[in-house]
Amino acid sequence: MSTCTLEVPGRAPIQFELDPTLSVLDSASKAGWELPHSCRRGNCESCRVQVLEGEVSPAASDGTALLCVSRACGDLRIAADRAEPVNTSQRKTVQAKLYRLRMAAPDVAVIDLRLPAGVKAPFKAGQYLQLHLPGAEPRSFSMSNAPKSADSVQLQVRVLPGSLFGEKVLPTLQPGDPVTVELPFGDFYLREGPAPVILVAGGTGFAPMQSILEDALIKQRDRSFTLYWGARKADGLYALEQVRKWQQKFSNFQFFGVLSNDDSDCSMRQGMVHEAVLADHPNLSQHQVYVCGAPVLVNAARQAFVQRCQLPAGHFYADSFAAANAPCALGPAPIPSVTATV
Ligand SMILES: Cc1cc2nc3c(=O)[nH]c(=O)nc-3n(C[C@H](O)[C@H](O)[C@H](O)COP(=O)(O)OP(=O)(O)OC[C@H]3O[C@@H](n4cnc5c(N)ncnc54)[C@H](O)[C@@H]3O)c2cc1C
Repeated sequence: MSTCTLEVPGRAPIQFELDPTLSVLDSASKAGWELPHSCRRGNCESCRVQVLEGEVSPAASDGTALLCVSRACGDLRIAADRAEPVNTSQRKTVQAKLYRLRMAAPDVAVIDLRLPAGVKAPFKAGQYLQLHLPGAEPRSFSMSNAPKSADSVQLQVRVLPGSLFGEKVLPTLQPGDPVTVELPFGDFYLREGPAPVILVAGGTGFAPMQSILEDALIKQRDRSFTLYWGARKADGLYALEQVRKWQQKFSNFQFFGVLSNDDSDCSMRQGMVHEAVLADHPNLSQHQVYVCGAPVLVNAARQAFVQRCQLPAGHFYADSFAAANAPCALGPAPIPSVTATV
């Protein structure tokens, strides 16, 4: 079996075995290491790393590789911005029940699911689940509730024209109906430390931010949290009531709404949401930045914050809301199967 040596700033080199049947990302996960990733289809760029030695398939033409769709051809040495221990044995597949469904905006559904009595599925604020649909790719949705009791989850789902879950399945669901979910996934959660936190959400990218803020604002009163939430139009900021409550209650919380295609509300800023951050924070060298939303937002924010505002690449955390049915860039990538079913 081949070995991967992983170099991460500030850590001793990490070594793990490469399973030839898995992507490098999944080999790392199997060995207990979570590397940055989101879409698992080679589209969102979150898992791109430097290949320092060895070869991957497909070949790393520019010295970099997308780990979610790359397999190793022998021993490998790669450099990533960060790597964190993960325990995939905590991941569970659960038959939850729909408890409540409401529309928060014309195209945003808020879904509350309850787990079976006695079943707990712990997660970290900011992580996501996979919703299983018969005969289709699982759909990824971030939990929007704080993980207090671990026996319920809330999702905020954009209902897109032609979408399978949002437009076809969701309207048929009644309270009490079963919904199969697998959780938790992802490395999008708040890191410890005193660094001021900037959260940048596009549309339903607000969902994991709500989870993080509900969890952290109470516990970390000395830390500064600034939320930038962008949408095309005012009704896309579908949870402003909740945001205003945080503003009233927590002096360490600041909020900026940013509209790209609507100048009717003068309390909101105009333009692209990451550009509002650039205007306010020319130097991000001391911050942690968390970004969630469409891949185009995540990629633009990563590039701008790291290259123009001195944000250390390892302090940029993101989930890229790539569509489940987007074409896979480089062929199928398997998903780890270390999961308990409840
Ligand atoms: C880690 C992660 C977390 C996420 N969290 C959230 C979340 O909290 N909330 C949220 O709303 N979304 C989230 N997403 C995005 C969500 O998983 C996808 O948008 C998912 O595809 C939605 O499933 P659906 O069945 O409703 O829509 P789908 O049927 O998958 O359709 C989604 C979009 O793709 C378009 N489409 C349909 N067919 C095709 C095709 N053949 N080729 C290209 N495009 C097509 C549709 O028109 C629509 O715009 C997340 C994604 C990831 C990776």
